[in-house]
Amino acid sequence: EEIASKIAAGEVIQRPESVVKELIENSIDAGAKNITVILKDAGKALVQVIDDGCGMSEDDAVIAFERHATSKIETYEDLENIRTLGFRGEALASIAAVAQVEMKTRTQEDELATLVKIEGGKIIEISKTSHPIGTSIAVKNLFFNTPARRNFLKSNYTEFKHAYEAFIRFAIAYPEISFELISDDELISKFEATDFETRIKQIFGDEFFKTLIPVDEKTEYVSIYGFISKPEFSRKTKADQFIFLNRRYIINRSINHAVYNAYEHLIDKGNFPSFILMILIDPRHVDINVHPSKLEVKFDDEQGIYNFVRAVVKHSLSKFNL
Ligand code: ADP
Ligand code: MG
Repeated sequence: EEIASKIAAGEVIQRPESVVKELIENSIDAGAKNITVILKDAGKALVQVIDDGCGMSEDDAVIAFERHATSKIETYEDLENIRTLGFRGEALASIAAVAQVEMKTRTQEDELATLVKIEGGKIIEISKTSHPIGTSIAVKNLFFNTPARRNFLKSNYTEFKHAYEAFIRFAIAYPEISFELISDDELISKFEATDFETRIKQIFGDEFFKTLIPVDEKTEYVSIYGFISKPEFSRKTKADQFIFLNRRYIINRSINHAVYNAYEHLIDKGNFPSFILMILIDPRHVDINVHPSKLEVKFDDEQGIYNFVRAVVKHSLSKFNL
C-alpha cells in the first residue's frame, strides 16, 4: 500500500512545480482572494501556499489527505460538468506520501484552526492552533523518502523556473485574485487583484503589452478573448504562448497550429507569435480527465475549435492591419 501510494504520487507530483500547481488550484477552488506562495531552495526544501479561502473543519482537514478524498465531485453528472480546478482527490494524498506536510486551516465557523502534520503519508499530529480563516499548507523536503526521485530533480535554477511558470499561469488566469511569490525570503512577484488587461501588464510589463493586439469574439458554443502579438513582433522563441481553457492552462498542439496557421505569410519561417488566449466553453464539451496533470484536454469538436481559433486570430490580425 505504501509503495503503491508512492508510485501513484509520482504521476501527479514530479517536482516542486507540481506542488505549487496543486496547492494553488486548491486555494482557487476554496475561493481565495489572496494567495501567497513561499519557496525555499526552489521548492525542494519548502513549498508553502497560504490562502484566505473557505478553510476546512477538523474532520475535513484529516480526510483531505486520504486518496480520492474530494469534496468537489459527488455524482457522475458532476464529473461531466467540472467547474473546479481539482476533482480527482489525489493531490494532497500524493503530496503527503512523498513529503513532510504541515497544514493549518480554519473555517469562518471555527474559533481555532486545525493543525495536521503528516509525513510520508502518516499522520503524526492533529491539534488546535490559532490561524486566520483560510489554509496554509507547507510542504517540506519533497521526496525525502524517495531518494531516487529527489536525485532526479534539476538545478535550483531549473526547478525555480518551472515553479515560477506554474505560478504565472494562475496569475494570468485569475486577475481578480492577488498573488504573491516569495523565494528564499525575497519578494519575487506581487500582483494586486485587478482586471485581465492590467494583470497582463503587471506580469509582462507595459513594453511587451504594446506589442500585442486584443482578441475578443464569441459564438453560442465558445468564446475567446486575450492578446496576440503584432506580426512584426514575432520572435525566434515559443516563450510567451499561453492557452487557457475555462481558465485552466492547457497544452494543445492543434490550437497552437491554428494560431500559427492564421499568421501564415505574415511572419518569417522560424519566427513565432506570442499569444495569451482564454477560451471559454461549456465544460460538457470538453474532457479534462485525460491525464492526471490535467494539462491535456479533449474537445468533442476538435475541428470546430481549430477553425474557430484560426478564424478569430485571422480576423483580429486583419482588423489591426486596417
Ligand atoms: P481535489 O482538489 O481533487 O478535490 P485534493 O487532494 O487537491 O483533491 O484536495 C482534497 C480536498 O481537500 C479538496 O477536495 C478540498 O475539500 C480540500 N482542500 C484542499 N486544499 C484546500 C484549501 N486550500 N482550502 C480549502 N479546502 C481545501
Ligand atoms: Mg486539488
